[in-house]
Amino acid sequence: MAAAAALPPHAEVLVVGGGLAAGYVARAAVEHGLGGVVILGEEPVVSYERPALSKAYLFPEGAARLPGFHTCVGGGGERQEAPWYREHGVTFATSAPVESIDLARREARVKGGRAITFGALVVATGARALTLSDPGLPGGDLPGVHSLRSVGDADALLADVARLKGAGGGAVVIGGGYIGAEVASGLSLQGVPVTVAFPDASLLARVVPRELGAIYEALYEAKGVRLLKGATATGCVPGPDGRVAGVRLGDGSVLEAGLVVAGVGARPNAELLDGQAKREGPGRGGLVVDSSLRCLGPDGAPLDRVYAVGDVAAFPLSSQGDVIVRQEHVTHARSSAAYVAAALAGKPPAPRYEYLPFFYSRVFGGVSWVFYGASPPGAVAVPFGLAPAAAAAAEGRASKFGAYLLDPASGRLAGVFLESGSPEENEAARALAAARPAADAEELRAAGAGYLLAAAARL
Ligand SMILES: Cc1cc2nc3c(=O)[nH]c(=O)nc-3n(C[C@H](O)[C@H](O)[C@H](O)COP(=O)(O)OP(=O)(O)OC[C@H]3O[C@@H](n4cnc5c(N)ncnc54)[C@H](O)[C@@H]3O)c2cc1C
Repeated sequence: MAAAAALPPHAEVLVVGGGLAAGYVARAAVEHGLGGVVILGEEPVVSYERPALSKAYLFPEGAARLPGFHTCVGGGGERQEAPWYREHGVTFATSAPVESIDLARREARVKGGRAITFGALVVATGARALTLSDPGLPGGDLPGVHSLRSVGDADALLADVARLKGAGGGAVVIGGGYIGAEVASGLSLQGVPVTVAFPDASLLARVVPRELGAIYEALYEAKGVRLLKGATATGCVPGPDGRVAGVRLGDGSVLEAGLVVAGVGARPNAELLDGQAKREGPGRGGLVVDSSLRCLGPDGAPLDRVYAVGDVAAFPLSSQGDVIVRQEHVTHARSSAAYVAAALAGKPPAPRYEYLPFFYSRVFGGVSWVFYGASPPGAVAVPFGLAPAAAAAAEGRASKFGAYLLDPASGRLAGVFLESGSPEENEAARALAAARPAADAEELRAAGAGYLLAAAARL
C-alpha cells in the first residue's frame, strides 16, 4: 500500500476510486501486462467484495471479515491483499481521496496532498448510499441512524447492534429494496427485533412482481420480521440521551427504534468530472459513456482515454435498444473493469461492451434468488411455483418459485427471476435471458419451472 505522499508523479493508467471495480481493473491489467497502473482510493483498505457487507458480514457467527473477502474472491479469482498490488507492480494508495481532476492538464489531485498526471483515466468512484439527511429528514443524522456502503459503515452498525443487544430494543430498517431486505435478515439473525418500513405496496417491489413479493413478505414474517408496507418515514426522533429513539411516519405515528438503518438507494459519485464530462439526467446521474465505456465530453464526443466503470458509469445497454442505464451490481463492476483494462492494453475483448443485467440476493441462510435480463415497459410476468412456495414461506422456508418476464413488443422472453434454483437452473435462466427466445405465456405457464432446463437445452 502506498501512502498518498509516496505516489509517483505520473500514472500511465490512473484509477480513481479503490472499490470493487478497481480491484478487477488491477487484476485484468496484470493479466494483460498493462503497466504503470496507480489506484487512488479513499477507503483505508484495498478493494473488497462489497456485497458481503449486507450478507455474511452481519452474521452472528462465522461472519466474513477482511482480509477474507478482498477482490477478486467473489469473481473466482485470487485474493488481492495489499502485498499483491506491490508484487504485481500496481500502486494502490489507500486513504487517498481525490478532490479534483483536470482533464485538460490530465492531472488529479489528492485531498491535502500531491497532484499526479495520467495518460489514461479510469473513473471507478462507485456510488454513495443515500442517507436520511439527503432529502433533509429531521433527525436523519442522529447517532444510531446508519446507512451501509463501506466496511466502516458495517463496523459502526455492528457496534450499535452490540449496544442494542445489551440495552434491549429493536431496529427499524427504512426501505424494502434488496439492501433493506438483506440488512433486515442480518439484524434478525443477530437476534434483534426488526421492523422494515417502506412506502411500496410489497417487499422488493422494484425487483419482483407483487405476487412474488408477497411470498418474501410471508417468509420474513415467519422469521419474526415485522413489515410496514405503505409507510413513509418523515424523520427520526431523539431519546433523552440524544440517540435515535424512534422513526416518525407519514401518518404522524412514531415507531420505537434503538437503531435505524436506511436502505434508501444510492447516488453515483460523478461530481469530480462536473463540467468536463456528460452526466446522465439533470446533473445527479452517472457519467455517460459510449459502447466502449469511454466518457463523453459535454458536447457528447468521446474523451481521449477517459473511461468510467462500475456503479458510476451510465452505459448503453444493447439488449434494450441502447437505453442508457446504470447497473449497481457486481457483475457489471467486474466485467466493465475487465473490458476497460483489456481495451487499454490494446486487446478489447469485443467491439463493444455487452452486458446481461444480473441481480442476486441471499438472506436467512437458505433464501437465494437470481434475476437475469430485464423487465421492459409493459412486461408480462408469468409466475410459477407460487402455491407451494407460499405454503413453505409460511413455515419460514424457501422453495423454488419465480417468474418469466415477456416483452409484449417482441413476444420474446426478456428476463427470468428464480428463487432457490439449482446451479443448472440458474445457468439456464442466464442462458435464456441472454438468448431471448420467442415465448408464449400459456406455454410458460403450463411448463412452470420445467421450462428452464428444457428450453435452455433447445438453445
Ligand atoms: C451493502 C451492499 C450490498 C450489495 N449487494 C450486492 C449484491 O448482492 N449483488 C450485486 O450484484 N451487487 C451488490 N451490491 C452492489 C455492488 O457492491 C456494487 O455494484 C459494486 O461495489 C460497484 O463497484 P464500484 O467499484 O463501481 O463501486 P464501489 O465498490 O462503491 O467502489 C467505489 C470506491 O471509490 C471510492 N471513492 C469515491 N469517491 C472517491 C474519490 N473522490 N477519491 C477516491 N476514492 C473515491 C469509494 O470510497 C469506494 O471505495 C451491494 C452494494 C452494497 C453497498
